[in-house]
Amino acid sequence: MIDEKPYRSGYVALLGRPNAGKSTLLNHLVGERIAAVSNKPQTTRHKIQGIVTSDDGQIVFVDTPGVHKPGYLLNRRMMASVHDAILSVDLILLMRDAAVSTGNGDKFVLNLVKQSEKPAILVLNKTDKLREKGKLLPLIEFYSGEYDFKEIIPISALKGDAIDVLLEEIAKNLPVNEPIFADDEMTDQPLRILVAEMVREKILESTTEELPYVTAVVTEKFDESNPKMTKIYCAIYVERDSQKRIIIGKQGSRIKDIGIKARKDIEHLMDKKIYLQLFVKVVKDWRNQERQLNEIGISG
Ligand code: GDP
Ligand code: MG
Repeated sequence: MIDEKPYRSGYVALLGRPNAGKSTLLNHLVGERIAAVSNKPQTTRHKIQGIVTSDDGQIVFVDTPGVHKPGYLLNRRMMASVHDAILSVDLILLMRDAAVSTGNGDKFVLNLVKQSEKPAILVLNKTDKLREKGKLLPLIEFYSGEYDFKEIIPISALKGDAIDVLLEEIAKNLPVNEPIFADDEMTDQPLRILVAEMVREKILESTTEELPYVTAVVTEKFDESNPKMTKIYCAIYVERDSQKRIIIGKQGSRIKDIGIKARKDIEHLMDKKIYLQLFVKVVKDWRNQERQLNEIGISG
């Protein structure tokens, strides 16, 4: 008998309060290639963060905006979109820093998991910071009492400890499926999109208002004629003048800050110097206007 594992694939959300180590883990797991289909929506559902493909499975990590901003009062519409995003995945990874005590942020994301009733794996990160592994026991006990986790896996995202175990357990808990993205649907160079997402991320980070949810970023021009310095022009779409003023900030301070931070990330991504220009466009009610959505390329 041939012992052949069935192919499994699915969407996975990585949840956890800021500083839990989510980005560190994703950077570790995810290669350069992401799906070209992520060109489309910059909206909440299935914003793809990265794809891990192996011989027996494909894990598609998706972002769930809003989840990682506990502490702010999220309005009902935002909460609805958070729940919607979570409900559309096959598996949740709930990650926390095992070396610090449980905070409100941890409870906030734990509650989201409970409400979703989705299959979930608890990832206890930063085990390298623990002198004694016994310190994990109270945490394991607490979380086991709160939710029926499929697995509880201590890792160190930084050192790469037990990441292979984690990957295996993720795959095991995904549905038996064809790969969601075929090789030819993936690209090494979705630069325009990655750039727009990096700008959008900086907007999210530097504003606490509801604003980001009415924001779309589009890379309008990508000028590589000068090999020493790529010039990138991004438009930030908002719906109202008041939102434009928030993004621009006092004497342009906020948009400048967003630009500086985004440029650093983009330079890191592209491994070269870039010139980044941001401008804000007010398009009234853009989210409801099919034609304009098509124009800025985020429909569907
Ligand atoms: P995020 O906010 O959840 O995306 O967290 P980050 O991935 O940005 O990590 C926050 C901080 O924790 C960074 O300084 C990381 O280097 C650090 N970090 C992440 N994982 C580990 C880990 O396994 N061990 C240790 N010691 N530090 C970690
Ligand atoms: Mg992060």
